[in-house]
Amino acid sequence: MKLRTKFSVLNSFLIIAVILGVSVFLFIAEKRLLIQEMEENQTNIIKGLAQVGRESLITNDEILLINYVNLIKRTRGVMYALVTDAQGKVLAHSDVGLLGTIGDDTTAIKARSSNKFITQSYVDDKKQKVLDFALPIFIDRNKAGIARIGFSQDSIHQIVEETLRETRKRIFGVAVVMLIIGFVGAIILAQMMTKPIKQMAKGAELIGQGKLDTEIVVKSKDELESLATDLNKMSSQLKEIDQMKKDFLASVTHELKSPLTSLIMYIDLFLTGAAGKLNEKAKKFLRIMERNSNRLSRFIDDLLDMARIERGKMEIKRESLGILPIVSETVELMKPQADEKNIEIAMNIPDDLPLVFVDGDRTRQIITNLLSNSIKFTPEEGKISIKIQDDKKYLQLSLSDTGIGIPPEHINKIFDKFEQVREVRERVKGPRGTGLGLAIVKYLVEAQGGKIWVESEVGKGSTFYFTLPKQIM
Ligand code: ADP
Repeated sequence: MKLRTKFSVLNSFLIIAVILGVSVFLFIAEKRLLIQEMEENQTNIIKGLAQVGRESLITNDEILLINYVNLIKRTRGVMYALVTDAQGKVLAHSDVGLLGTIGDDTTAIKARSSNKFITQSYVDDKKQKVLDFALPIFIDRNKAGIARIGFSQDSIHQIVEETLRETRKRIFGVAVVMLIIGFVGAIILAQMMTKPIKQMAKGAELIGQGKLDTEIVVKSKDELESLATDLNKMSSQLKEIDQMKKDFLASVTHELKSPLTSLIMYIDLFLTGAAGKLNEKAKKFLRIMERNSNRLSRFIDDLLDMARIERGKMEIKRESLGILPIVSETVELMKPQADEKNIEIAMNIPDDLPLVFVDGDRTRQIITNLLSNSIKFTPEEGKISIKIQDDKKYLQLSLSDTGIGIPPEHINKIFDKFEQVREVRERVKGPRGTGLGLAIVKYLVEAQGGKIWVESEVGKGSTFYFTLPKQIM
């Protein structure tokens, strides 16, 4: 999962948790407040009734009391309301039929003998839960009557539920809006946090690929910015070291190349007899010297080529040429090496091929390199086939051998410089090679506008393919 996605998901989870927590808390707090309000309301109603009852007892105004009782009865949740005298005789009742009676229910009996506010819950004949309140009425510190109200608990619950339904809707609406803002915020935050990390990862990848000019620009004014600065310092130090290495390599190879060339020239002169007649033993030693000097010379040539490629100084002079002579000449030159191992080189080249637009020497170098690898990595009595096909804008050349093959895990790496399949190198006799050949070949093919790739099976052989652009008509 990408860092940005991880950040967004984590932040979103946090936001959901916080919003869910706050919503539940708000809901519970609102419910508690509402219940408290309802209870206060009920107390106020009964207090009001007791007050009016007291005034009507003092003034003997029963009409006022009856009107008030009826008014209270209309309040939602009130089942009945009544005022009795101190002995329990009903003076006013929401049910007119009960006027003058004396109640014998638990609350009535308790209220008659008590001077306190009484609260009683019970279930009536209609299976309704009732909350019964009784408040004594005092005149001059003497108990003169009792005010009573019965509230339907089911209706009270219903009122609470109705009010909470609205609250729930409000909280839900606010939560949804907050969630949307939160999600958008989480994505923006994740983007802001991961952008510099992404830039650094990209920069580090480019530096890793050898692009040491890469500069990572991060302006976040925090640890990430100083990390980017450190990475930039590291890449500029690497660049300095790389330059030193290139300069050193270039001058060393140059200093080696000139004396070596004259050494080879003099060995050649000796062998041709220019310095007098040599006996067979001296000739044999000189040939060994010649072979080894030529190997060293090829190694230095590879190093010089690589240094040129890296400095962008490799010259490619393209012109229109026939490919057949180039391939035939190269095969002719390499034939003695193949013969030493009894390797057959077969060519399957049509003679009506169009011209290619390439550098002749560089193309010769490509084929020599691939052919010498095929000979090197093919056991005795093997076979090498060279084919050329006409393929739209290109000629496609292929070199197949019946050699040891390349393990699949190395296929993509063998075109990198200094890359060799270690197990293979240890099995093959002769010079170890440099691991530069295919890197140079790849550069030369691509610099001429072509492509190179390989197919191989361990134990069966390898086929190297490359394309060369045809001459534009
Ligand atoms: P070198 O031949 O100097 O080692 P190259 O760059 O030419 O360097 O080749 C790199 C590696 O690719 C070789 O070391 C070898 O492991 C592998 N290779 C190249 N050509 C062949 C081939 N025809 N068959 C098997 N392995 C090959």
